[in-house]
Amino acid sequence: MSTAILSINNLAKNYGSIKALNGISFDVPKGCVFGILGPNGSGKTTTLGIILDVLKANSGSFTWFDKPSSPDTRKQIGSLLETPNFYHYLSALDNLRITQAISHRGTPNDIEEVLKTVNLAHRKTSKFSSYSLGMKQRLAIGAALLGNPDVLVFDEPTNGLDPVGIAEIRELIKRLANEGKTIIMASHLLDEVEKVCTHVAILKKGTLVTAGAVNEVMLNEDIAEVGATNAQQLFDALKSFSGSTGIKMEGGNVQLYFPLGTAKLENINSYCFSKGITLNLLTLKRKSLEAKFFELTNN
Ligand code: ATP
Repeated sequence: MSTAILSINNLAKNYGSIKALNGISFDVPKGCVFGILGPNGSGKTTTLGIILDVLKANSGSFTWFDKPSSPDTRKQIGSLLETPNFYHYLSALDNLRITQAISHRGTPNDIEEVLKTVNLAHRKTSKFSSYSLGMKQRLAIGAALLGNPDVLVFDEPTNGLDPVGIAEIRELIKRLANEGKTIIMASHLLDEVEKVCTHVAILKKGTLVTAGAVNEVMLNEDIAEVGATNAQQLFDALKSFSGSTGIKMEGGNVQLYFPLGTAKLENINSYCFSKGITLNLLTLKRKSLEAKFFELTNN
């Protein structure tokens, strides 16, 4: 049984001779905040356009809730691809009434609720033109929340906002995630993604560099992988290894965590030797993904 909300399989998209996506695949687990990360032009918006049926892929496929995309599955997905064209001379309340009448998502009663969620209830009768950029963006997210969809898809939700506006959107996304919604968002801000996302897919020039849980993908520590015939004995011995910040048994081996750049394999080796343990594995998984990030964000 799959718990993937969205499953993307080998999607490719060309714009004429430009290859925007070269066959990307990844799954979005239920209840996560999933960041699609990559520099400008890496294919983030194209990916979102395809999964929202705004663009057609040249090849590959995707499923929502284990089913092909359909009007029925689309009803469970709220999205914000581009800032909607709100009427400047109307209030937030009236703008959402119009959005609701056009989209037929939810009922008129949902509007007040949505305005509370996005922290605009106190300004609901103010004209849209009097709003700050952050408030405008929160109203756009509010429009995506109409009908209470289980899944939300946002393209660069913090684009153009100041640090306060960015923090407000971050808090809103966290609140929505706490309510159990699955959130998929594209961003080129590594820092932002790290603060809010539980999972990421990293794109570069239309190919997938890596995908998975943030704490696995964005390694900012050294991990020494250590093995011996008696793994439990090794684990017990290494529990008290000085300088280590954590220990985990993983696939029959011991993973020992250290602050970035501080793991010394020779010290682990001599320590184990002094305890009468002969190692059959000793490797450092230092910065491999960080190196990928560096490569990714520097050209
Ligand atoms: P950004 O962060 O700048 O929005 P992105 O990661 O979302 O970038 P896309 O917008 O998906 O990237 O673009 C991927 C590639 O496809 C880029 O090379 C872009 O120039 C190209 N592209 C996107 N839309 C079109 C289009 N309508 N016609 C031609 N080329 C396009």
